[in-house]
Amino acid sequence: MSATATAKRPPRPRSGMRVEFDRDACIGMFQCAAEWEAGFEVDRDAGKAVLVDGEETEDGVFAREVPEDAELDAKFAARACPVDAIAVYDDDGERVV
Ligand code: SF4
Repeated sequence: MSATATAKRPPRPRSGMRVEFDRDACIGMFQCAAEWEAGFEVDRDAGKAVLVDGEETEDGVFAREVPEDAELDAKFAARACPVDAIAVYDDDGERVV
């Protein structure tokens, strides 16, 4: 049996785009979850959205990379938030929404 070379690849294509979610600012209107279903979950008990796969980078602030195929959804989610709790950054770290 011969050894097979296996290339390591990220599980999904990456855009370098990042989304940041300020959970303290969130007032639970859930437009974000409507715009990006895979990105935001609804926590009705807490009255807050949950950033799926988000890591807490500071107190109450969660961030994650945006998969390439979700860039538009992430931007729409950020634009839809009435309290500006969602920010989207490009791969240069510049805020785009
Ligand atoms: S749209 Fe904004 S306020 Fe509404 S649940 Fe999402 S993050 Fe919270």
